[in-house]
Amino acid sequence: MPRLPSAPQLVVLNKPLAGNLGLEFDGLTSLEIADLLSGKKMPPGAYPIAQAYAGHQYGHFTGLGDGRAILLGEQLTPSGERFDIQLKGSGPTPYSRRGDGLAALGPMLREYLISEAMHAFGVPTTRSLAVVSTGDPVFRDEKLPGAVLVRVAASHLRFGTFEWAAAHRKIDQLKALADYAIQRHFPESIDAGDRYLKFLQNVIARQAALIARWQCLGFVHGVMNTDNMSICGETIDYGPCAFMDAYDPATVFSSIDRHGRYAYGKQPSIAQWNLAVFAEAILPLLDSDSTQAFEMAREAINGFQVEFDRAWLHGMAAKIGIFDPQAADEALIRELLAWMHQARADFTNTFRLLDPEQASSSVDPTFLAWDAAWRDRLSRQAHSFAESRQLMHEQNPRVIPRNHLVEHALEQAWSQGDLKPFDRLLEILTNPFDASMELLESEQQPAPAGSARHQTYCGT
Ligand code: AMP
Ligand code: MG
Repeated sequence: MPRLPSAPQLVVLNKPLAGNLGLEFDGLTSLEIADLLSGKKMPPGAYPIAQAYAGHQYGHFTGLGDGRAILLGEQLTPSGERFDIQLKGSGPTPYSRRGDGLAALGPMLREYLISEAMHAFGVPTTRSLAVVSTGDPVFRDEKLPGAVLVRVAASHLRFGTFEWAAAHRKIDQLKALADYAIQRHFPESIDAGDRYLKFLQNVIARQAALIARWQCLGFVHGVMNTDNMSICGETIDYGPCAFMDAYDPATVFSSIDRHGRYAYGKQPSIAQWNLAVFAEAILPLLDSDSTQAFEMAREAINGFQVEFDRAWLHGMAAKIGIFDPQAADEALIRELLAWMHQARADFTNTFRLLDPEQASSSVDPTFLAWDAAWRDRLSRQAHSFAESRQLMHEQNPRVIPRNHLVEHALEQAWSQGDLKPFDRLLEILTNPFDASMELLESEQQPAPAGSARHQTYCGT
């Protein structure tokens, strides 16, 4: 059961999401909603549980579980979809190990902001329904205000959930879990003859599509441990994640990722490694002959690269206005990235400033050579420059959650009780492609030169 918070107060509520979920809050006061979304009062029909799972953390196998999260239950929406509703930061569970099971207000607002921005960017992700401050302190390096995040997910089944079942050598449970996941996330393959191989291929395809979206936005997850990888291909567990400013494949934000295992440029290969761990967990389901099962898994895992490359090429090509990418376009994209790397150009703004309908104002000869080749390529497709521009504007956000802006908004919220910067950031980040949204220059620019390179911290 969730811990009873002493004075829950609603800090932010996602009304459109509540509406989509079919949650009826009309007629309830803000305090009554806070009670329901903080664990103080159980919503009718709730059946609170903490889930067990395992995972490879930084390459090493560990037994884990929801250490500070409690699943309240599943919500069937008016349109017939099923979502988990989970409280994060709601007190200790049997899986808390040495942790207190709690969360501080700043990091929960951070997850709210970034997950809702990801959703607005069109990236599959868990959503955030609310943040409720508990009225109780949380002790980290300092005393901080505590909070609960209400997270909404297509499910909380992780790669690590399957690793848990495999590690306990409970084949019947592993099979039941896989059948449940197939039923819930890939119902179209429920009757397939080789349903577990199809399951593996589906999980691989969703991961490839997801990681390609991350790469196209400059998103660095930061903790791609297998326990933080959702089986249905949603981005989950927003810890030390952040968006790149200047393009650099070595970008890392997590203070504990000292070797850059989860750097931006490594995310695709790490995803493939994670998938291999997942495949290993379900090997006994693929074939009773272990050599045969291994071969099936190996072939499926090799397919990741093909799927990822295709999704990446389509995503990146659309960012530069190409509708129907050809293999040769990869070189054009890589040349732009190489220039951005060397020029330390801002990833987001470089794409947003490219305009097929206007001559470049750059004086950089390397960039101008690329620009000419790019325009030449656009002139050879069956779409006008205006159509390319439109495509680009749908793909390239005007704003991203830049770390210095996020940190400022969070600090104002938790230390001053001033939610204005948070609300403003949320407003612009949930409308990132809207050209009519008036933006300040400071909302679009990277952190001022010379400011400390930003890091975020685990154990949030
Ligand atoms: P993460 O790397 O953030 O995904 O966390 C790894 C594991 O630690 C998960 O099983 C979490 O539930 C658990 N955990 C993280 N923070 C806490 C906390 N404050 N108390 C208890 N468990 C925690
Ligand atoms: Mg986690």
